[in-house]
Amino acid sequence: MTGAPTNLAGVSEILDAVRNGASGEALAEMPLPATTRAAFVLRSEQDMFEGVASKDKDPRKTLHVDEVPLPELAPDEVYLAVMASSINFNTVWTSIFEPMSTFGFLDRLAKDSYWGRRHALDYHVVGSDGAGVILRTGSAVRNWRVGDEVTVHCNYVDDQDPSGHDDSMLSSNQRIWGFETNFGGLADICVVKANQLMPKPTHLSWEESAVNALCNSTSYRMLVSRNGAPVTQGDRVLIWGASGGIGSFAVQHVLNSGATPIGIVSSAAKASILHELGCEHVINREEKNYKFWMDPHTQDESEWRRLGKDIRSLVGGDPDIVFEHPGRSTMGASVFVTRRGGTIVTCAATSGYMIEYDNRHLWMKLKTIKGSHFSNYREAWAANQTLIDGKVVPPLSAVFALEQVGDAAYEVHHNRHEGKIGVLCVAQEEGLGITNPELRDKVGEKRLTIFRRHK
Ligand code: NAP
Repeated sequence: MTGAPTNLAGVSEILDAVRNGASGEALAEMPLPATTRAAFVLRSEQDMFEGVASKDKDPRKTLHVDEVPLPELAPDEVYLAVMASSINFNTVWTSIFEPMSTFGFLDRLAKDSYWGRRHALDYHVVGSDGAGVILRTGSAVRNWRVGDEVTVHCNYVDDQDPSGHDDSMLSSNQRIWGFETNFGGLADICVVKANQLMPKPTHLSWEESAVNALCNSTSYRMLVSRNGAPVTQGDRVLIWGASGGIGSFAVQHVLNSGATPIGIVSSAAKASILHELGCEHVINREEKNYKFWMDPHTQDESEWRRLGKDIRSLVGGDPDIVFEHPGRSTMGASVFVTRRGGTIVTCAATSGYMIEYDNRHLWMKLKTIKGSHFSNYREAWAANQTLIDGKVVPPLSAVFALEQVGDAAYEVHHNRHEGKIGVLCVAQEEGLGITNPELRDKVGEKRLTIFRRHK
């Protein structure tokens, strides 16, 4: 879907040099621009959707693309030329100001420190994924150099906070970069802490590299890490939204673990993506027309039972684990269908966060509901390694130009996409950045393009 005219205003010499593969030494000698093209929402518009139904709140009205000043760089940060980024659901939340305006997060961050104060601006540069080239390193950065090719994970923590020393997700001031901080990845130049950087998979293009870190790391913690509900061989795992952002990674992690995924999707096209990915058992919820809610206040246990029967008829038993994120629409059913002693692991509530389920099914059958959120550094690196090794493939289904970021977010808001949508920033054209064609051949072009071919 690339193809909108690219606004070259503000694309400086240094970005041209990055695009043309200049060396780190050459980049380090070139002056940085004072501004960068970026996608942002405006504080002055944060109330514009008051009284509007969620589905009618339009990201195309609130996501602007224009030049913004580059902030001063903190000692532990780098400036990154973002070759490509991606749309995550959190950018949808920011753009429709739900469940709250993200300017509150920025104002709170501003109270933390001198460097935190930079974030509370009248605009919020969004985006929680990115792949690119380091342009400058702060004075305290040790492990990375100008010119390094990297991807970015979005865990933004203060390493001086002792509450995060065992598991950085437990840090009391843990934030998601580009959602709870400013200067996110949907820009030509972004600002990230050095400890968010990870090596870019060499066999992937920029746009393929940019769509993974947030969703892959989230699913890894939920289903592989001991901090989630780790899957083991022979487990049955029910995955809602199995061809979506986190779901498509969940399916791959479950398959890699020797377990059996049961993917739920809402169309035949999405079902065929899952089949090609290796997920044999798929339920099309549109076709089944489950009505878990009879009215906004009452759920129908017979519909939970019908889903349970459908799962049993596919895989011969109840799920050991349910990968939950739709929230209010599905949680009652998820708790019901999980096997005795099984786990419902949840990281979200797309359809509503005030959840209802029948607690008798939880306690009498000794089930566990486990909350999970993004991933710590170890988990993000481990998840990135699955990509580097070609054991997980990017679910890239479409690519938009940065100027089209509102359209891209609109697609995700209305569930019109599959997998992940990539966004070209500095790269401006698709297919660049592959430096290991041998590994690419080994993983296979066909497997790497499953989501694009089904579009
Ligand atoms: P996504 O790409 O939009 O995929 C979500 C999928 O869920 C949809 O494709 C849809 O699949 C399914 N779905 C949506 N509403 C549903 C409903 N009412 N009932 C059943 N299925 C429904 O989004 P994503 O990137 O996977 O993210 C999913 C959620 O997780 C979002 O709320 C996001 O904010 C959250 N999230 C949280 C974290 C975290 O760290 N806590 C990280 C990433 C994402 P079908 O229509 O095919 O069934």
